[in-house]
Amino acid sequence: MKNIYLDNAASTAILDVAIESMTEALRLYRGNPSSTHRYGRKAKAAIEKARKEIADIFNATPGEIFFTSGGTEANNTVLHSAIKQLGVQHIVTSPTEHPSVKNTIDHIHEYYKIPVTYLEVDSAGRIDLDQLEKVLRDLSDKKTLVSLMHANNETGLLHPIEEIGQLCEKTGALFHTDAVQTVGHLPIDLSDGKISFLSASAHKFNGPKGIGILYIHQDNMIEPFIRGGNQERNVRAGTENVAGILGMARALTYGHEQLQQKRNYVTTLRNYFIGLIEKELPEVKFISQKSNEECMFTILNLYFPKSENTDMLLMNLDLEGISASGGSACNSGAATESYVLEALGWNKGGKSIRFSFSFQNNIEEIDHVVEVLKNNI
Ligand code: PLP
Repeated sequence: MKNIYLDNAASTAILDVAIESMTEALRLYRGNPSSTHRYGRKAKAAIEKARKEIADIFNATPGEIFFTSGGTEANNTVLHSAIKQLGVQHIVTSPTEHPSVKNTIDHIHEYYKIPVTYLEVDSAGRIDLDQLEKVLRDLSDKKTLVSLMHANNETGLLHPIEEIGQLCEKTGALFHTDAVQTVGHLPIDLSDGKISFLSASAHKFNGPKGIGILYIHQDNMIEPFIRGGNQERNVRAGTENVAGILGMARALTYGHEQLQQKRNYVTTLRNYFIGLIEKELPEVKFISQKSNEECMFTILNLYFPKSENTDMLLMNLDLEGISASGGSACNSGAATESYVLEALGWNKGGKSIRFSFSFQNNIEEIDHVVEVLKNNI
């Protein structure tokens, strides 16, 4: 039996070059980067080199890049610290954000009594920019934070972050984007300052798990969410994950060197999958937008109308060696209903399965998955 991994939105296989960087780092850097002796300085210098590499990729400055334990911590840091320190009085967000944003905003609302406006979304998950503009205009006398993700982790839908950034700039709102599903896959230029905060996570772009990036625009520096020593220029305490940082920088650099090539290849796979589904399984519906302009080329979420087999579908795929996901990325394989799909009106009794691709997949795998689906729905 072949093992076919189509859950790359949940996590990706780490690149050999990243493993090599990490192995070398684990051997070379015994010192604590905060120590002033030569071992400490050597580790610190390696981190700063990685920070510069990452900053260059975003067209940002090294002083705007902070290392966290991943996307969840980056999102928590922005939301908690912006409220406390930048005096945010109102949050604007969508009902389809990742749990690390949604649950944090729920907590902040409950604990700090900060009002939250949820933008309406259509059946694809699109927000209405006119509504956002009106909401921001009405809130122009309040310090407002807009938190809208770049690509949705369940459907792949892309929010227009440039236009959102422009609207935020016009009305003086801060703009946070959770770009965990897009960093390493799409080019993101932060030089125009329209994005105040951006979160990313290495394990979504073939780097190691447990390390991430928080970009903070230089005008919006915040206090730490995790307090302790003064590491990361006093924004994130705790001894740095040196090997993780170096592995992440290597994976991101590699990802950017191959960006267009990977995108073309994976887009071809996704289009091929869409074509086969339309031809062979016309009863299956597309939750994700088919267009690669509007949707991340790495994600295709499909809806299987209820039949006697749909409840077992994900498990049967697994038994056939095919790893995909139901529910959300963090609950891969979990039977819990998705609040995102519910918000889009897909709670119709059938099953949704998210297939997510990488450059490590191929056409033969797609052919096999469609054959297995045909026999199991
Ligand atoms: N945000 C999005 C959109 C995600 O897809 C994920 C992971 O599934 C996260 C945040 C959390 O990132 P991490 O796993 O690094 O905590």
